Amino acid sequence: MKNYYIWTIGCQMNKADSAALAGALESAGYCRAASPAEADLVVVNSCSVRENAEQRVYGKLGALADVKRSRPGTIIALMGCMVGADDSELRARLPMVDYFFPPAATRQVLDRVVPDFACDGALGKGIAAGSWEGAVAAFVPIIHGCDNFCTYCIVPYRRGREQSRPVEDIVRETEDLVRKGVKEVTLLGQNVNSYGHYLRGTPDLADLFWEVNGVEGLERIRFLTSHPKDMSERLIEAIASVPKVCEYVNLPVQSGDDEVLKRMGRRYNVAKYEETISKLRDRVSDLALATDLIVGFPGESYEQFQNSYALLERVGFDQVHVAAYSRRPGTAAAHMGDDVSVEEKKARLEAVELLQERVAASINAQLVGRTVEVLFEDLKDGKWQGRTRTNKLVFVQSGRDIRGLLAAVQIIAATPWSLRGELA
Ligand code: SF4
Repeated sequence: MKNYYIWTIGCQMNKADSAALAGALESAGYCRAASPAEADLVVVNSCSVRENAEQRVYGKLGALADVKRSRPGTIIALMGCMVGADDSELRARLPMVDYFFPPAATRQVLDRVVPDFACDGALGKGIAAGSWEGAVAAFVPIIHGCDNFCTYCIVPYRRGREQSRPVEDIVRETEDLVRKGVKEVTLLGQNVNSYGHYLRGTPDLADLFWEVNGVEGLERIRFLTSHPKDMSERLIEAIASVPKVCEYVNLPVQSGDDEVLKRMGRRYNVAKYEETISKLRDRVSDLALATDLIVGFPGESYEQFQNSYALLERVGFDQVHVAAYSRRPGTAAAHMGDDVSVEEKKARLEAVELLQERVAASINAQLVGRTVEVLFEDLKDGKWQGRTRTNKLVFVQSGRDIRGLLAAVQIIAATPWSLRGELA
């Protein structure tokens, strides 16, 4: 029997791709290894959204070169967003890598490493539920690729154009996951709000919500990521009314300045974004909001950064994922220069983090004394951890095995990052 090891960095799509690959490899008779040193096949699933992610991948591959020296038969594969159409530079730089695969290349990996295996049976139109064995929450990709070409983003060049999976495949995969014990699915894509555009009958994300909601035994539906320009009234209505859809929306704003948004190619302005937030808050009670923000985009002046900062203060997000701009060769923004200094980017990033710590502390403090519904996922350092419908991390002490339990929890303490509670 052969062993595999997958190392993953990057977004949830990458994690879902790794899970799909793991499921397919297990169907082909491979076993999960505890470390690369014990594996016959090591797959590094890479990310190229920012330079530091790429540096970590190079570091990991450097360490794997030692593994290969001590066990020359080990196959090392590099998969994911670092692998473009022309991989000649990577091949020259990474002699320890045997094979290069683009993102989500389950079929190609199987074809290469187990050529005799009937690949279609394992992939079953994308069903890879086996790799989520024992999990309470799982990712289900619903749309691959992206048509938006935001000027800073390499993703459309690496993951290609939008391709939605048929509703029936997604429902079948969710049913399969539920049979294995999963209670919560996150419907995933680079832009889930444009789900279904090219499918027969053009179902949209609202239609998909209702279909997945019908899966018996499933407790919760989440979705990630949404493009603000595609957050339609119909979708807002569905978030408000489909019972299993959680009251949590991640709506990446990226900048709070109209001129910067224009140069980012985001196709909305700040007023439009705030109007969408108001509609969501009017329609969905107890809504939690998250956003993504880039600081130090080419040409971002201090005043323009201040506009982003002011937007964060006005909206009061539950979570802000902030990143310093990182020049990505091959994107339109790569030609705009990278004129905000490293120190200034760092200062802006820290200012946002400090602000967000204050905002999140105040939002979470309001939950102390309240009773919330928590789905417990795991035991960490002697404490059970789970999430509220609004995606807040909650810790409780319990001597029982409560993995997979959906329970009422009274919140007794809050920090900006998590809550502490007692089973009610
Ligand atoms: S919507 Fe923009 S940021 Fe998101 S994946 Fe597509 S191009 Fe990248």
